[in-house]
This record gives sequence, structure tokens and C-alpha cells, in this order.
Amino acid sequence: MPGFELFGDQERKEVNDVLDNGVLMRYGFDPMRKGHWKAKSLEQELQNTLQTKYVQLVSSGTAAVSVALASAGVGAGDEVIMPTFTFVASFEAIMMLGAIPVLVDIDDTLGLDPKAVAEAITPKTKAVMVVQMCGSMGHMDALKAICTQHNLLLIEDACQAIGGTYQGKPLGSIGDLGCFSFDFVKTITCGEGGAVVTDNENWYLNADHYSDHGHDHIGNDRGAESHPFLGYNFRISELHAAVGLAQVKRLPEFLDIQRKHFNIIREALSEIPEVTFRTVPEGGVESCAFLNFFLPDVSTAEKVMIAFKDHGIDACWNYYKNNWHYIRKWEHFKELKSLYPISEEVKKGLEYLQTKTFEQSDHYIGRNISCLIKLSWTEEEVRRRADKMASSIKSLL
Ligand SMILES: *Cc1c(COP(=O)(O)O)cnc(C)c1O
Repeated sequence: MPGFELFGDQERKEVNDVLDNGVLMRYGFDPMRKGHWKAKSLEQELQNTLQTKYVQLVSSGTAAVSVALASAGVGAGDEVIMPTFTFVASFEAIMMLGAIPVLVDIDDTLGLDPKAVAEAITPKTKAVMVVQMCGSMGHMDALKAICTQHNLLLIEDACQAIGGTYQGKPLGSIGDLGCFSFDFVKTITCGEGGAVVTDNENWYLNADHYSDHGHDHIGNDRGAESHPFLGYNFRISELHAAVGLAQVKRLPEFLDIQRKHFNIIREALSEIPEVTFRTVPEGGVESCAFLNFFLPDVSTAEKVMIAFKDHGIDACWNYYKNNWHYIRKWEHFKELKSLYPISEEVKKGLEYLQTKTFEQSDHYIGRNISCLIKLSWTEEEVRRRADKMASSIKSLL
């Protein structure tokens, strides 16, 4: 996945443009810029890449999720349905707005189980957030149908899935609003950065203003701009956008490499009948940022992880006991350890976390191994890796 593996002259050139004129900020200072608008240019590139009408760059993927929700009017006391398998950013971004994260089970796509989503809807539900983990996707048609039926927003966190598609549409462009991250380990990187994408002009304008102190961005005198509503600072800098601008132009090259490496490893593991792969919904094409597969049971998955380690197979994870990605290890969230008081409404809304169990998620995450697909491997390295992975697994079955 990581674009940082292939960092070179194009990235340096874009950054040097910014350093040469010294305008490190994305707004204003027109005469000094010598025509360089890196954040604006990156937004245009992303509009084409993601086939979406509007793109608002922000400072991170986490900011993108908060800004997307806020732009569509999600806030205090609203419930947002999200999956148990994701990144901590999902609940952070919801909590930041005073809204309530409602965690539900995933299915064999490793994304939201539509049935679990339908069961979790209450009169307070405002949005469903599907997280397109590890380059693939949830059952988008079913999730969209539920959202339409109940008049809910569908927010698509595609932070790990740039380059994947569903029925020919880029992941991230299918929900009402989509979110991307360009942090250091994502498929394309800005160092730090993120984006909100949408076809809705009103939500886009909200995101544009909200991420810059509520500035309306009318005219070319920042000091004279008015503030139609409250905002914060989630701006990206020109330096970060410059790196992303070089990287986004290389996305097709990155995706080709990813797919080639992914297919070599997948083919080797397909020959083992006990290994199964995550379900990709019909009409879906993975970005191939990760290869995810299931073993018959939790203990075999644990043993395979040890065998991988012994054979020098790095960059593979069993997320069951992982601190970042799965509910089992989110004690700080479950115990509401916060630096500052949390509203009674949110506290009450999260009481379910003390008792609710997620056997269906455990069933998939416990047996899953997720392997990062690197761009910097040579073909020979990938083949050797695939052989070692297959022989390690076979020796344990
Ligand atoms: C990386 C990631 C984020 C957050 O992105 P940052 O840019 O690191 O804040 C959110 N959601 C998912 C699924 C991610 O993988």
C-alpha cells in the first residue's frame, strides 16, 4: 500500500515549487505564488481520479471523517452506525462532534453487515459509516438501500481503499460523502492529509468553510471574508498537498504494481483448500492494498502468524489482538478515558459497550490474516514470499 516506498524526483519537484515561492498556505497570498496552487491542483486531480463533483482537502483522514459528518449536519446526540473492525479514527471522529458511535458486526466482506446495521437503527440514527477496510468494500447495494429506506446518510470511509471500485465507480464516491486519508502509510501520501468528496454542492461548501474557521472564501481578501457559521482549522498545507500532487499522478502505476504482487500471493495461497478469502461483493474490484484470508480457526491463525514471523514474513497481521483496528483492544474507548468531561448523552449512548458482544465479528477477525502488499518488492521477492507463506501454512494444517 504505502506510496512513501516510491518517493522521488516528482515529489521533490512539487515541494520545491512551494519552497521557491515560500507560500506554505493554501489560501491567499496570490501575488507571491507564481501560479502554484498545490492544494487546489490536488483537489482537481482527485475529482478526476475519484469521478466526483467536489473534493475538499483537509489535514488528515480523521479530520475528513469529522468534517464530512459535520458538513452533513451530524452532531450532538446523533447516532452513527460504524463497524467493529476499522481504525480508531472512526469513533474518534464521531465522538469529536458529540455524536454517538454505535458499533455493529462485520460480515465476511470484513465490512458492515447490512443485517446488523438494520437491527441497530433507532429514531436517533443519523448516518451509517461503511469503512472500506484493506482495499475492499462492504455490500454497498444493500447498505445504500437501508439508508434510502430509513432516510440516513451513507458516509464512506475509503481511507484504505483508493483505487478500488464497485460497479465501475471508485470507492469513496458511492456514499453521500466519502473520506480519504493521505497519511504516511496510505496508498498515496501527503505526509499528513485527507479529503472529503461529495457530489452535493451544499455539503462541499460546508466542508470548505468548516475546515477553515468558517471562512466563506468569497473575494481575495481573507481579512474581509465573513463567517456564515462556526468552523475550525482542518487545513492542509501547500507542502503536504505538493507531495500528494506528485503521488496522485502515480496512482495508476502504484495500483498496477499492487495488483501484480497481490495476484502472485493470492494464487499461491489459493492452492491450499483450507484457506479462504474475504468476500468481495459482486461488481467490486479490490484496490489490492492488502490480501486478506481466513484460516479454519483462531488457533491455526495464531500458529500461522508465529510461523510467518519465524520465516521472516513481515507486514502481516491478525487484528484480533491489535490495538488499532478491532474493538477487543479498545479499552480506552470502552472505559471512556477522556481528558475532559464527556456529555451525559454520549455516556448514556455508549453504555451498550459494557455488555454487548460481537461473536460474528470475532468469528471473522479471529481467523483472518491481513497482509500488506508493498510496492517496493521485486517480483522475485514476491514469489519467494508467496512460496514461504504457502509452505508455512501447509506445515500447520
Ligand atoms: C488511516 C485511516 C483513517 C485516518 O486517517 P489519518 O489520516 O491517519 O487521520 C481513518 N480511517 C481509516 C479506515 C484509516 O485507515
